[in-house]
Amino acid sequence: EKMAAAFQKAGIRTVRDLLYHFPRSYETFERPMTLSEARYRDYASISGVLTSQPVTRYAKRIKITEALAKDAAGAAFKAVWFNMPYLSKSLSAGTAYVFRGKFAGEGQSRRMIQPRLIRREEYEALEKTLRPVYTLPKGITEHTVQKALTQVFLSGAFPAETLSEALLRDYDLCPLSEALRLIHFPEDRGQFLKARKRLVFEEFYRFLLNIRAMKADLQKTPNSFVISRKKETDDLLSKLPYRLTGAQVKTLNEIRDNLSGDTVTNRLIQGDVGSGKTILCFLAMYEAALNGYESVLMAPTEVLAKQHYKTFRKLSETYGLGLRVSLLTGSMTAAEKRAVYEKISTHTTDILVGTHAVIQERSVYEDLALVITDEQHRFGVRQRELLKGKGQDPHMIVLSATPIPRTLGMILYGDMDISVIDELPKDRLPIKTALVDIEYRAKAYKFMAKQIGEGRQCYVICPLVEESEGANGENVKDYAKKLETALPKDVRIAVLHGRMKSEEKEAVMEDFAANRTQVLVSTTVIEVGIDVSNATVMLIENAERFGLAQLHQLRGRVGRGEHQSYCILVDTTCSEESKERLGILKSSSDGFKIASEDLRLRGPGDFFGVRQSGDVSFQLADIYQDAKILSQAEEAVKKTEAVTFTAETPVL
Ligand code: ADP
Ligand code: MG
Repeated sequence: EKMAAAFQKAGIRTVRDLLYHFPRSYETFERPMTLSEARYRDYASISGVLTSQPVTRYAKRIKITEALAKDAAGAAFKAVWFNMPYLSKSLSAGTAYVFRGKFAGEGQSRRMIQPRLIRREEYEALEKTLRPVYTLPKGITEHTVQKALTQVFLSGAFPAETLSEALLRDYDLCPLSEALRLIHFPEDRGQFLKARKRLVFEEFYRFLLNIRAMKADLQKTPNSFVISRKKETDDLLSKLPYRLTGAQVKTLNEIRDNLSGDTVTNRLIQGDVGSGKTILCFLAMYEAALNGYESVLMAPTEVLAKQHYKTFRKLSETYGLGLRVSLLTGSMTAAEKRAVYEKISTHTTDILVGTHAVIQERSVYEDLALVITDEQHRFGVRQRELLKGKGQDPHMIVLSATPIPRTLGMILYGDMDISVIDELPKDRLPIKTALVDIEYRAKAYKFMAKQIGEGRQCYVICPLVEESEGANGENVKDYAKKLETALPKDVRIAVLHGRMKSEEKEAVMEDFAANRTQVLVSTTVIEVGIDVSNATVMLIENAERFGLAQLHQLRGRVGRGEHQSYCILVDTTCSEESKERLGILKSSSDGFKIASEDLRLRGPGDFFGVRQSGDVSFQLADIYQDAKILSQAEEAVKKTEAVTFTAETPVL
């Protein structure tokens, strides 16, 4: 029962759930190196020999075991273990091992901490393998999962094949049962890639069939809320303290044509961070109000929702527009929420701003003509159905700051019209970007301290949440502790990551937005949903792990105010490839160009980095790395044109 409860907590109830609980990553065993090759690395596998028998001493409550070793080139180093005194007996001087572990300390005192020692012959065998690593809740071990999976594979209780034989043949895909087995138990990289290809293809194929169905549906949907152009909108435009950029003007025209046209609007607005999407939304919502309709703007976080709310109220006040703007967030009391719902259903508000979750709960409003979602996943079929089921078909606009290359965008947003704001307002100070190695860290912390001394704030991004086996890289929790000693005492440091409850996340972001904390150490969850113009430093650890488009997105969190901003990319490999790739960020600030370069440089098969999140999220697929499979799936969907769905049609 305990076990069942633990599995349920991970969302695993059936055999299918278990099979589709894919490994988060795979531990790989790369070619061992020498110390000098590993100079710029925090983690490495070093081929060497133990030169002294490990000795254990007792310090306070910890047992410290130490040994001396030499790498293949003869360079000496020290290995240290905590609370593992038995190693003194099980390891022996003179034996050749591969030392796998993390480095700590600088210069002379640099040593390997808690390395795993694997005999050379054993390591050679491991080099060819991939060990799956799962994200698991408390109470379930990797061993439990593997045992359960083995049972399933022995029983042969697989979900039925979902793709037709023709598809499997034409695109060289393995059957579902084989793919599911190999994704969990690959013997080598080749098997893993084979399994992955099949599963990614299916994800794309299913998605694209849905898109096609949505598109067909939308093209038939008449415009039930004709929002005609009003003179007041143009008046407001002429009063703004700045002139819209050419790209903004073009996009605004496209929106207004849509809203006043014959069929319902379904438009994606893509524009780099800071390209000025918000004002366009406001103008559209104003025009809707002038036509007697309500609008909703949904933001991914409470902090952003509040920011938009303030901006809109201020615009309305400054220009005497008389708009009624309301806010709806998860942290409001039930009574407060009810009051807002009341305003909407009685149409005593014009613009509602809120978080996605809150608004989706009850979205019935007869006069709701326009729904805008900011920086969030595209609308799925389900969400659209939800809205539709509750009233008429509102116009929908989605804002995205993810610069997806045009070719990909046309496939992924095939059901939508697309506007691209490919021009930034002229007065922006470009962000200064530096690409550094791990030796630069001390300097970076000094620089951060100086910026904080001047009243600014900093972000630090790490790829991991906490120390975990099988995944090397900096983690948020330990890094925050490290910074506490590296930065002045009065600097307040907060952590943010995806495993926190959403109220906790909101509180942390709120504190940062109000400058109650000066440093925010976070995973990529901050990618969307925070807009702090006082933050001027973005330090990204293990930058080599991230996609360029994602790094660009993260960098866009700074440089939003009047102060000069900086982005420091710490590359812990310093390989030529990664220098070339990350170098693109130094030389360009054009999101679309960066995304295209990313697509060009990232080879297929490079699946062990941090996944790009972007707008469209898939379980396994990555639109950048799997661009080729995506276009194959698109082709396959085109060929599937004639299919009419019957009871026998594979479930897709
Ligand atoms: P994003 O597209 O990232 O959502 P915002 O809409 O928040 O960007 O715009 C960023 C800032 O730029 C805002 O302060 C906004 O007032 C300002 N802005 C928008 N358009 C222009 C423009 N054409 N010229 C100058 N500043 C602009
Ligand atoms: Mg925005």
